[in-house]
Amino acid sequence: MNKAMAQIKGLIGEGHVVDSVAEMAKFLRGNGKPLAVVFPGSTAEVSGLVKLANELNLKIAVGGQVVESKGLDGGLALVLSRMNKILEIDHANLVATVEPGILHAAFVTKMEEEGLNFPPEPFAVETGSVGGCFAIGDTDSKAFQYMPTRTYLLGYEMVLPTGEVLDIGNKCIKNVSGYDLIHFAVGSRGTLGIFTKLLIKLLPPPEVKYAVLADFASIHKASIAFTTLIKRNIHPTRLNLINATLAKNTFPATEGNLVMVDLEGFKASTELLAEEISSVFKLAGAKNIRIVTNADEYVKIWRAWLSLRGELNTQDVERILDINVGPMKMPPALKALEEITGDLAGYPGIVLEGLLGHIRMLLPTAAEKNQLAGKVNALAMSFGGNVSGVLGSRLVCEAYNDAEMWQGITSLINQIRKQFDPKGILAPGASL
Ligand SMILES: Cc1cc2nc3c(=O)[nH]c(=O)nc-3n(C[C@H](O)[C@H](O)[C@H](O)COP(=O)(O)OP(=O)(O)OC[C@H]3O[C@@H](n4cnc5c(N)ncnc54)[C@H](O)[C@@H]3O)c2cc1C
Repeated sequence: MNKAMAQIKGLIGEGHVVDSVAEMAKFLRGNGKPLAVVFPGSTAEVSGLVKLANELNLKIAVGGQVVESKGLDGGLALVLSRMNKILEIDHANLVATVEPGILHAAFVTKMEEEGLNFPPEPFAVETGSVGGCFAIGDTDSKAFQYMPTRTYLLGYEMVLPTGEVLDIGNKCIKNVSGYDLIHFAVGSRGTLGIFTKLLIKLLPPPEVKYAVLADFASIHKASIAFTTLIKRNIHPTRLNLINATLAKNTFPATEGNLVMVDLEGFKASTELLAEEISSVFKLAGAKNIRIVTNADEYVKIWRAWLSLRGELNTQDVERILDINVGPMKMPPALKALEEITGDLAGYPGIVLEGLLGHIRMLLPTAAEKNQLAGKVNALAMSFGGNVSGVLGSRLVCEAYNDAEMWQGITSLINQIRKQFDPKGILAPGASL
């Protein structure tokens, strides 16, 4: 056994280190060849490993269940699945303290059992960890009502790239003055440090959850119906559409495009809203409008939505292009989009998240993504919007033909990263 491996095993115990290529492959993404996959069980062990990596000049990447191995040759892949405990549930303050490796699904289930609500919904809803949720951040279709994921982070414990431990935040909502270093870590994807504890804001659960489903022959008409609801100050929890091609596979009885409305709230107001929304959809020419009040059916509908969204963003991600234009600009943006893409009705996939003004396209082929990205981005910006995800900032700069601006942004990001991680130890595969 080489010296490094002996030190690693000495730190966290032989049973928590995997170093055979075949075994390691189960916990890795990408083609990198780390020295070992390690499963630390405490903050002290994570800190010890990071200090050792500093001494031996090893790279480190972290993941909830599986680690990105890009750039990790000879380094350590930290899987946090052992650090999966709920350390405290504070009902009075609506706060929980958890270790980062707890699965999102397990955490949500436990919170429901406790009569509490944690609304963020990651793409990897079955396999994602709570640490990964906050390390990526982002926004889902419930975010108009419940706000983006970062809202739910009140503080954290983090092992910095030097191995020191940073403890920041507390249970008070008003807990930041000056730079907001709590939310700065959201979306940092393991580049600034490794979360080892998370202090999470919770909500009381809604009294009821209903769904309204409706079939629309035209995506465009549905998007106008969305704006009608918003003009009437009707903001449900989710106001989504999946086009006919996607609906056929997920909800085979759908005729055309499926509009899916989620309503979470008090019973009396939710009933009224469901009726009001149904009337607006009827006037807009929708068919098969149904209000779903049965809890099992409600769960089935939104599970199907989440698994569709998960598939699109994992299996089909190379063919996805998505833009945000804001809720009220969706109808004209969809029209303008068709001038670039041609008729959207026959597209392999269109998903609208009405309250975010988010349009997600599943392109016919991956090759089209690069061809279309620049034009679609310019279109989104002409409506005051943006392109989501990693392509976003670069394309904004390209659309302005401003290489200097792009260099400025990347240089600033790299300087910040270097300040935290002068030796460039953490997350070698992550480019922000
Ligand atoms: C509302 C919402 C929307 C989302 N939207 C998107 C999206 O648009 N695109 C997308 O790709 N994903 C998105 N995600 C994230 C996606 O769902 C992730 O796959 C999943 O939530 C992350 O969990 P994981 O355990 O699989 O993370 P992993 O795949 O293990 O990790 C994800 C990233 O977080 C880092 N990380 C994991 N754990 C820690 C930790 N303890 N400390 C520091 N860094 C850590 C990893 O290094 C990696 O960079 C979204 C998540 C939420 C909550």
